[in-house]
Amino acid sequence: MRQVLIAGNWKMNGSRSSIRELLNGIKACASEVKSAELAVCSPFPYLADVQEQLTGSSLSWGAQNLSTEEKGAFTGEVSAAMLLDFACKYVIVGHSERRSLYGEDDALVAQKFAVARKAGLKPVFCVGESLKERESNVTEDVVARQIDALIALEGVAALTDGVIAYEPVWAIGTGKTASPDQAQAVHAFIRAKLATLDAAVADKVQILYGGSMNPANAAELLAMADIDGGLIGGASLKADDFLAIGRAAG
Ligand code: PEP
Repeated sequence: MRQVLIAGNWKMNGSRSSIRELLNGIKACASEVKSAELAVCSPFPYLADVQEQLTGSSLSWGAQNLSTEEKGAFTGEVSAAMLLDFACKYVIVGHSERRSLYGEDDALVAQKFAVARKAGLKPVFCVGESLKERESNVTEDVVARQIDALIALEGVAALTDGVIAYEPVWAIGTGKTASPDQAQAVHAFIRAKLATLDAAVADKVQILYGGSMNPANAAELLAMADIDGGLIGGASLKADDFLAIGRAAG
């Protein structure tokens, strides 16, 4: 049985006070979430506050990006060691916003995964196709290409030190969710692809769905055989919604 993970991606949202309130709200009812692990991925400046508020709770936390460099003259960058200083467990790599707005390509994302993994962080490795790619029927090719870049660098077994998040770009922040069948089909494709290389890895790796998951659609998505949780953007900014998604995991 794979552990269900419900991870919030706050993106560049919140303030010290709103995040304090949000975490208080989540913590107050986190015990109602019986089977899922809850995690939040915070903007860098709030990691110290998040660590302070969540230490000793059942929640995990992490960041949304990291540098491939260890240290040095890289203005504006944040290293894996810095994230570990705030006891981060997770770090998102290759989110579609990083890929499309900041030019992160498959090779760089794979390198970020490798650096995070080597440091002992759990990378949340995002893959997914654009609307144009889906309409051109190349969803599987795109997702395979993104995963192959990582396998080429790190080998397939490395995937079990992280988490995969399938996030169709057309569903992120748009209110358009992939249907449970659409999402399941891609998750099953990913697992079958990994199984051709290593059946045990394929069976073990957690594959989250991300793209407008909310309290109304979470149960149906999370009930699918190969969906092992969610990466949640907008709905992770409201304690009630985030908790409701966690409860929907069963
Ligand atoms: C995300 O940014 O990873 C995401 C899934 O966002 P949203 O839930 O808002 O679509």
